[in-house]
Amino acid sequence: MIAGTRPINYLRISVTDRCNFRCRYCVPCKPFEELDHNQIARYEEILRITRIACELGITKVRITGGEPFARKGILNFLENLTVIDGLKDISVTTNGSLLTREKIDTLVTLGIKRLNFSLDTLDPVKFKTITGKDKFQTVWDMILLAHQKGIQPIKINAVVLNGLNDDEIVPLARLTRRYPFHIRFIEYMPIGETDIKEKQILSHEIKDRIENHLGPLQPVERTQNDGPAKKYRLEEAPGIIGLITPVSSHFCSDCNRLRLTSRGTLRPCLLNNYEKDILGPLRNNADDDQLKEIIRTALNKKPAAHNLSERCVGDIPISHMTSIGG
Ligand code: SAM
Ligand code: SF4
Repeated sequence: MIAGTRPINYLRISVTDRCNFRCRYCVPCKPFEELDHNQIARYEEILRITRIACELGITKVRITGGEPFARKGILNFLENLTVIDGLKDISVTTNGSLLTREKIDTLVTLGIKRLNFSLDTLDPVKFKTITGKDKFQTVWDMILLAHQKGIQPIKINAVVLNGLNDDEIVPLARLTRRYPFHIRFIEYMPIGETDIKEKQILSHEIKDRIENHLGPLQPVERTQNDGPAKKYRLEEAPGIIGLITPVSSHFCSDCNRLRLTSRGTLRPCLLNNYEKDILGPLRNNADDDQLKEIIRTALNKKPAAHNLSERCVGDIPISHMTSIGG
């Protein structure tokens, strides 16, 4: 599938808007309504949309949420994804807190080798302040277990904010000296109405802080499978440090993604509020060709570059991060 001059081969699917965490940078501060069960795309509906998208050229899928492991039946759904023709790469983004040894074993058996965890701090007290849950140890144990079970690469996403967890930049970066993890610092994006008042830290400052404390960062060459992270390595470190810069430096021209939100809308750009409903037509008996046309229409709306302040709305109201999936 082509949008502008870019081939689009990556579908990011949010399977639920529910989450057992309340990360301050993600969850709206004002009361908000969760979707009714019948508003959320059912697994068989997601599988059909994915199959059709794969016929159009999607080869990679990342499952996200909300918290994907908060949705019942997720492992069975993942198993059904693995048999879709043309789908070569399935990965999952999780907060890690609902994983268990058995679930990790199943992921390995299914061939899902790439996991992204969210972890913004190594301090259990700060972890609770940020996420609302006293679950640091569980998450850390699951990261280590996934590592022992051979899941690779393990990517750890950290959103850093001044005064909240900026003092965690160096300890998190230091992990790459001990483990082959990819520690990725993501610039905070002002999406939805969160209660974030702390100042966002841009990537060049994160890089400076790491270099001042841990020494020079050597650029790492990009591979075909790389996402938008600029990658670096500390001298002789097995792990990688990634800087993801949606705010300070757009990577729109390289963006190869389409998103399917938990309520069954296609979102061509995370930072632009245009969404195209596909679940409604699917439930109204649209055939595969009609659904393909909807996917193409959504892709044609993929902007050349985002504008964080733009409010370009399609046929759907504005989403929160938990329903879009990050
Ligand atoms: N619950 C899972 C998790 O936390 O990994 C998956 C969903 S979460 C929405 C996906 C990613 O979005 C996480 O890595 C999280 O750090 C990131 N994220 C959430 N809100 C963000 C924001 N306002 N700015 C930047 N990244 C954000
Ligand atoms: Fe939940 Fe992930 Fe959002 Fe945190 S970042 S509230 S874990 S969806």
